[in-house]
Amino acid sequence: MNKIGNDSSHSLFISDLHLCASRPAITKAFIQFLQKTAVNAEKLFILGDLFEYWAGDDDLLHADHKDIIQAIKALGDAGTEVFLIHGNRDFLIGDQFSKAASVNLLPDPSEINLYGKRILISHGDDLCTDDTRYQSFRAQVRSASWQAEFLSYPLTSRKAQIEALRLQSEQEKSHKSEAIMDVNSDAVSALLRQHEYPELFIHGHTHRPNTHIIEIDGHQCQRVVLGDWYEQGSCLRLDEYGFSNEAVKI
Ligand code: MN
Repeated sequence: MNKIGNDSSHSLFISDLHLCASRPAITKAFIQFLQKTAVNAEKLFILGDLFEYWAGDDDLLHADHKDIIQAIKALGDAGTEVFLIHGNRDFLIGDQFSKAASVNLLPDPSEINLYGKRILISHGDDLCTDDTRYQSFRAQVRSASWQAEFLSYPLTSRKAQIEALRLQSEQEKSHKSEAIMDVNSDAVSALLRQHEYPELFIHGHTHRPNTHIIEIDGHQCQRVVLGDWYEQGSCLRLDEYGFSNEAVKI
């Protein structure tokens, strides 16, 4: 943490924290990160899977979530703008959450301009097009009609359904190859082309932190994959001079 939190104007990017009651140390580290590190940033971008799962905004006041939401709101109150993109685990985060936590929900993907750079941000699951079973599931659960029906169930029933789905997905994942669960390079190229070759493309989801240099149609783009928050936290710091990957101690 040499560079994060210094005085120059900068923004931070994180994803895949998978906050849940069974990993209290991660929640503690995240709240500390907000209070000590992110508070020095201009903007904080949370690129999906902040929570292990989100069953609906009527779960806002649950003891597991209260401190997290309060800490995010406090960060906004202290002057750091907070932006959020849905992940595949917390796509049911809605307007009530956004209001309570004072976050700006952004569509996936979104183009942003920071420090003279054109940047594309995304969670990244949309690019795992080789996983056709997942993509059809994604299309289903991202539809307004599916969500309206799902949210009409009582909270306890929704949580039980999500737990069952998670178990099933864990079992399926153990049979899927590593390649199938990574982003598809043609899908990445198509997206970069569609967004007219942003300098930087930042996403999470795959839990494979890395920086890939992509040459596409005579343009160069860097694809930065954020790391998850398991053994340690991970954060990308961006300022006018460039970016660096920083570890967050847990
Ligand atoms: Mn994900």
